[in-house]
Amino acid sequence: MGFNVAIDGPAGSGKSTVARMAAKELHFVYVDTGAMYRAIGYACSERGIDADHEEAVSEAAEKMDVTIRYADGEQHILLDGKDVSSVIRTEKAGILASKVSRYPAVRSHLLGLQRKLASESDVLMDGRDIGTCVLPDAQVKIFLTAAPEIRAKRRCRDYELKGEPYVYEEVLQKIRERDAQDMNRSVAPLKQAEDAFLLDTSGLSLEEVLERVVSLVRRGMQKDNTVSPSVSRQS
Ligand code: C5P
Repeated sequence: MGFNVAIDGPAGSGKSTVARMAAKELHFVYVDTGAMYRAIGYACSERGIDADHEEAVSEAAEKMDVTIRYADGEQHILLDGKDVSSVIRTEKAGILASKVSRYPAVRSHLLGLQRKLASESDVLMDGRDIGTCVLPDAQVKIFLTAAPEIRAKRRCRDYELKGEPYVYEEVLQKIRERDAQDMNRSVAPLKQAEDAFLLDTSGLSLEEVLERVVSLVRRGMQKDNTVSPSVSRQS
């Protein structure tokens, strides 16, 4: 088993950005599990399958081949062999992902892939249920969060940078809806694992969050004697 770091938290908490940067600094493999759910949500919409129809989504998802490839240190998500990494990065794909991720068949389809990746390498994996369900024995668990208003402002800044239009109130509303959906579902809801460090990023800059995450991981690695020699050398 590799050294496993689980980072969970709600939409817009900065997980992916921080996890990607921390993985680079620590020479870990970054695994973005949200992208896997997004790929399934996206595929359903492309095939005209209603994301609220559990049976149809589950049946289709079980036949989907979701895999991950790494090129230049970046994760690429392949759906039935096709690279869908960029088309899944929309707000619509996020909402669809949140809908299809409620279904046990969809979750169990992806669980094997997620655990396999964690067993093969030292990973920093982000999602909603990594510390609670996917990697309950992860050596370091971090729960990143921030007030919904702050998360909505960060999202708006991303839209601004991309030159895309947005309405703050609508962005905030969508964040609240996704939080409610992710926290209140019956299977693997978003919640902090009992042994996770809580990191509220509301008043912190990206650099400050990154520094804390990296130092939590390094501290965990010092305590752990299963770290592979390559990681020990780089830390
Ligand atoms: O993190 P991201 O916004 O890409 O995730 C999209 C959606 O996928 C989340 O809102 C959540 O419903 C779902 N998800 C999940 N479990 C994970 C990762 C993501 O249910 N481990």
